[in-house]
Amino acid sequence: MSKLFLVPTPIGNLKDMTCRAVEVLGTVDLILAEDTRQASKLLKRYEIKTPLQSHHMFNEHKTIESVCTKILSGKTIALISDAGTPGISDPGFMLVRKCIEKGIPVETLPGPTALIPALVNSGLPCDRFCFEGFLPPKKGRNKKLTALEEERRTMVFYESPYRLVKTLDEMADHFGHERSASVSRELSKLFEENLRGSLSFLSEHFRKNPPKGEIVIVVAGNSK
Ligand code: SAM
Repeated sequence: MSKLFLVPTPIGNLKDMTCRAVEVLGTVDLILAEDTRQASKLLKRYEIKTPLQSHHMFNEHKTIESVCTKILSGKTIALISDAGTPGISDPGFMLVRKCIEKGIPVETLPGPTALIPALVNSGLPCDRFCFEGFLPPKKGRNKKLTALEEERRTMVFYESPYRLVKTLDEMADHFGHERSASVSRELSKLFEENLRGSLSFLSEHFRKNPPKGEIVIVVAGNSK
């Protein structure tokens, strides 16, 4: 039966591609990719010859109807993002919602995503957590951090290296300078780093050692 597959792809280490991800991408009729050039490299590595079509946040409004029409006419389609799991701070949600509305089966493969290894590696409680993705860059940022002051679960954020110190400082102001946290950088890559400590320790460290690469911040919940 035709359906939509969401297929996670590696976040830095090509060996994290699962056997099933390779099998699904090799057998579907079409792969929707956030960046077709990036996707071509991955497909080449696994000798996958399935046609690619661009699907990103700037065109997904326009393409989801035609994607659904293709699936309803019998095609099976897979969606991948540049890295990790589609729909997690990446395009995916709108297409999934539309497919569900139209009665199209949707199947998401388990696989790479940055938030789970960062959370588990943090040493902070991971039995309950909330994923906040990227904080708003400007408007709504302070309001969001204020709303999280009472959050009791461990919180997971995505952040760019350029904003890391500013964000850690703002988090210290809202959650307390001694609140435990962890910064995971370049997960699964050659220069992976996981640094744990208070928000003020982490801010101080990264002020002295400006970070490069991709970053996840994990912050303990409010235990008071
Ligand atoms: N869909 C992806 C996922 O499932 O994790 C997330 C895509 S989002 C556009 C990119 C952000 O994810 C980065 O800015 C960073 O915060 C985080 N990220 C992705 N890969 C990472 C890595 N290897 N190490 C640390 N953080 C990473």
